[in-house]
Amino acid sequence: MSAIDDSVEGRAFEPTVIPGGRRNGHAAALVHERDAIVAAATRALLDAIGEDPSRPGLEKTPERVAKAWRHLTSGYGLQPADVVNGALFPAEAEQLVVVRDIEFSSLCEHHLLPFVGRVHIGYVPGESILGLSKFARLTDLYARRLQVQERLTGQIADAVMELLAPRGVGVVVEAEHMCMVMRGVEKPGSLTRTSVLLGSLRDDRDLREQFLGSLGRPRS
Ligand SMILES: [Zn+2]
Repeated sequence: MSAIDDSVEGRAFEPTVIPGGRRNGHAAALVHERDAIVAAATRALLDAIGEDPSRPGLEKTPERVAKAWRHLTSGYGLQPADVVNGALFPAEAEQLVVVRDIEFSSLCEHHLLPFVGRVHIGYVPGESILGLSKFARLTDLYARRLQVQERLTGQIADAVMELLAPRGVGVVVEAEHMCMVMRGVEKPGSLTRTSVLLGSLRDDRDLREQFLGSLGRPRS
């Protein structure tokens, strides 16, 4: 899976991480240049909505926004292998492993507004297991990009497949979308639930029910 295969076109979304120490200076220059572009775009946005970008409260906002967006989109240019970093261990049993309630926040690519929620991952190991904290890192890698919830769910499942070659994997994502809440399309508190089941978690009904049952009822 290429780390930038779903990236948005345009220089503002080139990868922030350029491997190789020799090029670190170049990477820093790129980040600096990108921040300047985002800040200028923010100034234009403020102007367009009828604000005065030079009033005291907004004076430093474009630079703050650029810095925030650098963080919020820091998943571009990272690959699953980058976050695993030696945390693969031999599996000792073939039982279902469930990592619940990984909190995340991401940005919907349709409105550039946050969606916030939790990821639950279950898998039946093949030869390897992954250190538990790495599932959160993996989630962030995909959440810190412009996303739709369905794709986020599938990308996490595919990454677990690719890294661990498990017998099966299931990913469930529950999230609240601010583009729905703030625009009044939906009542606050309503959750969107997406799931992807692969391998034995798709094909074996008992396993599937064991995984979904361990998550309890959706909060909605
Ligand atoms: Zn949206």
